[in-house]
Amino acid sequence: MTIRPSAISLPDLASLVRDVPDFPRPGIVFKDITPLLADPAGLDLCVERLARVAEAWKPELVAGIESRGFIVGAPLARQLGLGFVPVRKRGKLPSATVGIDYALEYGSDRLEVHADAICTSQRVLIADDLLATGGTAAATGHLVEKLGGEVCGYSFIITLEFLAGRDRLRQGVPVESILSY
Ligand code: AMP
Repeated sequence: MTIRPSAISLPDLASLVRDVPDFPRPGIVFKDITPLLADPAGLDLCVERLARVAEAWKPELVAGIESRGFIVGAPLARQLGLGFVPVRKRGKLPSATVGIDYALEYGSDRLEVHADAICTSQRVLIADDLLATGGTAAATGHLVEKLGGEVCGYSFIITLEFLAGRDRLRQGVPVESILSY
């Protein structure tokens, strides 16, 4: 039996994102999506809308970025009838990996994916909860390309437009974001 939650408007969806000032560091306003995830209609709207837009990009696989990208990406893959690949932080994946180092505000980090997770020319949709400076999504795009895949689009629930993260993504590749700040 399929139980469909009742519809929700975009303003109502926005009200389910909680601003947490000074987390994880002073000066950062953290966009907490846990109230949205806990709301069946909110979660449904996000997955449904991201899938509807991404369908036109003809993805063959969804790659979700650790860790909130897993929460967005896995139901998105299910909705699109596709498989899901986790892009993980250093040392978390059990089998042979391919990785990429990328710069953070302070220092650097590394993202890894299983070496056999993406096939040559496979069209990959990259999913995460939020686009900020774009460094994480851009690094994930490079990782997909390193494995021979083709990034066909990026799906986010939220974009912090003032950080201009879109400029760091592969130009010409479509980006969908439900909420913008
Ligand atoms: P960036 O690489 O700067 O685009 O950062 C994106 C990643 O960091 C995503 O995985 C987000 O979950 C997380 N992130 C960055 N800034 C915020 C924020 N203000 N609130 C919540 N998550 C954030």
